[in-house]
Amino acid sequence: MNPTYNFRDQVALITGAGSGMGLATAQAFAEAGAAVVLADVDEAAVRAASEALNEGGHNTIAVVCDVADETSVAATVERAVAEFGRLDMAFNNAGIQIPLSDAADEELEYFEKVHAVNLRGVWACMKHELRQMRAQGSGAIVNCSSLGGLVGAAGRASYHSSKFGVIGLTQSAALQYAPRGVRINAVCPGTIVTPMVTAMFGNGELDRERALAITPMGRFGKPEEIASAVLWLCSPGASFVVGAALPVDGGYVAQ
Ligand code: NAD
Repeated sequence: MNPTYNFRDQVALITGAGSGMGLATAQAFAEAGAAVVLADVDEAAVRAASEALNEGGHNTIAVVCDVADETSVAATVERAVAEFGRLDMAFNNAGIQIPLSDAADEELEYFEKVHAVNLRGVWACMKHELRQMRAQGSGAIVNCSSLGGLVGAAGRASYHSSKFGVIGLTQSAALQYAPRGVRINAVCPGTIVTPMVTAMFGNGELDRERALAITPMGRFGKPEEIASAVLWLCSPGASFVVGAALPVDGGYVAQ
C-alpha cells in the first residue's frame, strides 16, 4: 500500500536527482502534484529525468548543480524560486562513496572529497534553502545521512564521518528553525539498491551476501522506500517531527 500525498501548488528541490533515491524521490514528489527542481552534477542524467517526468505530464525543471560548490548551490535555489516562485520542500540527497580504506592509510584527498560533497554539500544546500524558507516562514527539509551516520564501520571512517556530520547539521538547524515554521529532519538509509550500491557490489567494495546477512529484514531496500519516508517527513503527517534522524534500513541500526 502506498500512502498518497497532495503537494499541489508546492515546490520541491531534490539534489542528486539524476539517479537512485534522488530520482525516485523526484518522481514521487512529481506524482504527488509538486513542481520539482531536479538538481544534479550529471547534466545528461538530470535532463533525461526531468524530460521523462514532463512527458508524463509533470511540472519539473533540471538544474546542473555541484553541491560541493556553494555558488552553484545558491544559483540552483535562485533558479528554483525564479521558476516556481517559492520553495516548500528540499531533499538534500546528493552524495558519493569513496574506496574502503584502513584509517591509518587513507589519503587526505578522499577525506576532503567525501566531506565536500556529503557534508559541505548539505550545509550549502540547507543554508540557501533556509534563506528562502525563512522569508516564507514555512518549509520542510530532509537531509540524507545514512546508517553510516548512526554507527561506525571498519574501513569507512571518512564516509561515516561525513554522514554523522549531516545529523549534527540537521539537529542544530532544526532547533533554530522549529519555532519559525521550518521542519528539518534527516533520513538514514540502510543498504538500498541504487547505482551507487550496485557499483560497490561490482567492484568488491561491498559484499552482497554479508550485507544481506546483517540486515534483519533479510533484503535490501528500494529507492522508493526512501522516497516514501522523505515524502512523509515533508507532509503534514509529520507536522510534529523535528530534528529526527530516521533509520530506513530494514532494522540494521536496531541491532
Ligand atoms: P547514486 O550514486 O545512485 O545517486 C547519487 C546522485 O548524486 C547521482 O546522480 C550523482 O550524479 C549525484 N551527485 C554526486 N555528486 C554530486 C555533486 N557534487 N553535486 C550534485 N550531485 C551529485 O546514489 P544513491 O545510492 O541514490 O545515494 C543517494 C544518497 O544516499 C547519497 O548521499 C548516499 O551517500 C546516501 N546513501 C545511500 C545508501 C545506499 O545504500 N544506496 C545508503 C545510505 C546512504
